Amino acid sequence: MTRLLIVGPQGSGKGTQGVRIAEEFGVPAISTGDMFRAAVSGDSELGQQVKSIIEAGDLVPDEVTSAVVRDRLSQADAAGGFLLDGYPRNVGQVAHLDEFLEGRDEALDAVIELSVPREESIARLTLRAQEQGRTDDTEEVIANRLAIYERETAPILGVYHARGIVDKIDGVGSLDEIAARIVAALEARGLTRTAGV
Ligand code: AMP
Repeated sequence: MTRLLIVGPQGSGKGTQGVRIAEEFGVPAISTGDMFRAAVSGDSELGQQVKSIIEAGDLVPDEVTSAVVRDRLSQADAAGGFLLDGYPRNVGQVAHLDEFLEGRDEALDAVIELSVPREESIARLTLRAQEQGRTDDTEEVIANRLAIYERETAPILGVYHARGIVDKIDGVGSLDEIAARIVAALEARGLTRTAGV
């Protein structure tokens, strides 16, 4: 059973690494950003509720986000572990997740902090905007998302540091190099992979 969280600024590559690490450890990768984007594309009630918030790069209200995550974590495939990407994103959400996991007698095993210099994040996001045309990858929205990361998300690392579960990983390098660093840090905690890198 491996329960992971990957944290990093937009453009740190956390989505890509999250999927890869989840595969290595045999758990589902659960990305709130992906779930919200799917809801928007499918024009569901949730999608209509969050569309303008996502397009502005603001945070979806905690109650809404935490309910979505609780539902997802309650599905059968997450019973044996999971990797969360993009949630919790502020200390209020940390409290919600704690409460949910405690209710199941569970806790996070490790928090992967993907560390990337600001200029590198901006360069990667700008490239992604050109390649994928994501509506929240415009210059103004990118700046807003990075500011929110600094103000709201970075503080959650302090909370997890106090629990001794943060592994800070250098997020600059090739995808393979970064994945290998993450795997090494998690294995050093005694977590075991189910696949070979
Ligand atoms: P991401 O792909 O993780 O950058 O998420 C894309 C967008 O979805 C964010 O800019 C937010 O608008 C929204 N979002 C994703 N995760 C959360 C969260 N945990 N809390 C609030 N909003 C979120």
